[in-house]
Amino acid sequence: MPKIDLQHENSKLKQSVQSLLARIEENQRIDRHFQGFEFQLLGCYHLKDVLDILLVDAMKHFNLDDVGLVLVDRDFSLEELMTSLDIGRYENRLQLRHSDDFSLTLYRGDYRVTLGEQDTLTASRLFPNLDQLGSAALLPLVRHNQLLGSLHFASRSHERFSPDKAVDFLQHLAGISAVCLDNSLSNEHLKRQSLYDRLTKVSNRMHFDLEFGKELERSERNGQPLCCLFLDLDHFKQVNDQFGHQMGDICLKQVAAAIRQELRKTDLLARYGGEEFVVLLHSCEQREGLQIAERIREVVDKLKITGRGVVRPTVSIGLACWHPAGNRTHDLSRLGQRLLKCADEAMYEAKEQGRNRVVSKVFCQIVA
Ligand code: GH3
Ligand code: MG
Ligand code: MG
Repeated sequence: MPKIDLQHENSKLKQSVQSLLARIEENQRIDRHFQGFEFQLLGCYHLKDVLDILLVDAMKHFNLDDVGLVLVDRDFSLEELMTSLDIGRYENRLQLRHSDDFSLTLYRGDYRVTLGEQDTLTASRLFPNLDQLGSAALLPLVRHNQLLGSLHFASRSHERFSPDKAVDFLQHLAGISAVCLDNSLSNEHLKRQSLYDRLTKVSNRMHFDLEFGKELERSERNGQPLCCLFLDLDHFKQVNDQFGHQMGDICLKQVAAAIRQELRKTDLLARYGGEEFVVLLHSCEQREGLQIAERIREVVDKLKITGRGVVRPTVSIGLACWHPAGNRTHDLSRLGQRLLKCADEAMYEAKEQGRNRVVSKVFCQIVA
């Protein structure tokens, strides 16, 4: 009978149990690490917060040399949304593509996490800021069987994301990231649809009403003047009658865009009614407000909208400016209504005086 070295067998068994336990512990540690990141993502509501976590926090959390995210923007709505939310491109780490063609070279139609080295061209496309890529993890972001985008983790080390490594944690992270991105995008789109005018893309009346109160409060708090402009396109019915509604719509869009160009980012422009707009210029004296109103009138006057004929729109503008008095006004809502009415009356005076002009009215504050 062969003699079994029990002591030796015992120590081998002990070693393998210890190494198994160490692996379990390591996996638990990685699991907790990924979970921590995923909890952060799941707690986000706004798109900007989700992007900050994926494109900024991920670098530190996972000790990466670079991160990239490509989002599919099939109908250009994402680009528009990001501009309106003032979301940048995270130093080229965020890219928008109008189709999912790019994914063919990355995943070849099989949307699973892919690890490995990348050829120089792909590496420079995925990570434009990284001088030297060792290996990368490519995480496809799929929701309802549609590719939303692709998240990319980069390391200068060739071993870090070598193809022999397990991808379970990354696959899970890809799923969570896709859900969070999709949810935050839906939230932002819904919010935008309810607050912005579909045709002109400027704020709608509901948004104006919400913001007007905040602007009045801010002006009062800071003791800064607030100018209100009421704008109404001249003889707009004739534009529709002569050139058709579609041309009228194009005209409204272009006029709104021209007005927006003359304003600061923080000024509010809203479509108040059919061919009527309101503008709020914060921290703006009456004299300065008058200059801005005159500039708007001029740029609209210079517009030449071509389609079925040529439309040369003009606009009549009324201006009223509120200089908060030192003592607190109690009924800001009433004050706001009076300010808007004052600008509206000034606009009607501009109409009566012959249209295509600005009329400025003195707004007297009566403390409620
Ligand atoms: P005034 O100089 O006195 O303001 O004359 P006006 O013709 O502009 O004023 P009126 O109030 O008589 O007509 C406003 C017109 O604006 C009538 C309406 O068909 C048009 N309008 C309102 N909303 C829209 C829109 O969304 N698209 C188009 N194409 N026309 C619109
Ligand atoms: Mg009108
Ligand atoms: Mg009009």
